[in-house]
Amino acid sequence: MAHPAGAADVLTVTPAGLYCPAGDFHIDPTRRAPRALITHGHSDHARPGHERVLATRETLEIMKLRLGESYAGAGQAIAYGETLALGDARVTFFPAGHVLGSAQILVEVGRCRVVVSGDYKRAADPTCARFEPVHCDAFVTEATFGLPVFRHPPTTDEVGKLLASLRLFPERTHVVGVYSLGKAQRMMALIREAGWDRPVWIHGALEKITDLYRACGAPLCETRKIAAGDKPKLAGEIVLCPPAAISSDLWLRRMPDPLIGFASGWMRVRARARQRGIELPLVVSDHADWDELCATIVETGCSEVWVTHGAEDALVHWARTRGLAARPLHMLGYADEDDAGEAEAAGAEE
Ligand SMILES: [Zn+2]
Ligand SMILES: [Zn+2]
Repeated sequence: MAHPAGAADVLTVTPAGLYCPAGDFHIDPTRRAPRALITHGHSDHARPGHERVLATRETLEIMKLRLGESYAGAGQAIAYGETLALGDARVTFFPAGHVLGSAQILVEVGRCRVVVSGDYKRAADPTCARFEPVHCDAFVTEATFGLPVFRHPPTTDEVGKLLASLRLFPERTHVVGVYSLGKAQRMMALIREAGWDRPVWIHGALEKITDLYRACGAPLCETRKIAAGDKPKLAGEIVLCPPAAISSDLWLRRMPDPLIGFASGWMRVRARARQRGIELPLVVSDHADWDELCATIVETGCSEVWVTHGAEDALVHWARTRGLAARPLHMLGYADEDDAGEAEAAGAEE
């Protein structure tokens, strides 16, 4: 490069997503790309059909499981902390604490360091490696919960509500909607941590991904797939299912007096829970809340913040008041499969 690279030279915004000219690769491209670096397995980030994919081993396994063997032309695994040279760029993956295998990607060109965080959270999650702040010049962040109203409570409180409800209504089937990749398994680990010693019953759609988590060593509770004829046995039991299933009368049919719960950061907005007839809203999110977003930006020591999607304006405004250069990227295609997708399923506009 003729002049020292700035962050805007390191990564550019293209119709397919973030692109690194020095290394000739995209990060989480929303269209088919010759070379894709993937932060994690959620469907808005890990799309099928790229020629070459570079991701953590776990993310590659998740893509294979959800998209099929032909998820990409070729997949290459990279470990956390390992650095690879791609053209004139160097890339290193660090844990993002979001779901199994999730990574932030550090891209270095010359002396300029840009971190693309993908989706992330700071709260402890026994099912994936914990987020590591990475020093950088520019930090690229999402802002799904980028408003001060979003403060996620401790997960022990939320799981405690579930167990308290089971004590109060021991005859009712407690059916909790959870996103199938990440949230489901985190709940399984949290329920076990809280001392629940019976198996948790699961919808068939959660089975394979749960098996993969278990094979990767996640400390999950015992689970049992609901088979035909099992439903009448579920009185007083915990059932985990994908968000769509909690509004399916057909699927809920024959369960003894189902009590519907839902685990999502959006459950902080009580109106959303009411809208959907959710009796037991559990505020458990795999995304950073407002405080985590702000603290993380400060910890990276960055001078520039790029906000990919979500409540961009509030976070950009906050960053500017801190003297940082901040810009919203208004990126399309990341209207999330996970927490935001759950909101969609809950009948909200976002
Ligand atoms: Zn995600
Ligand atoms: Zn996302």
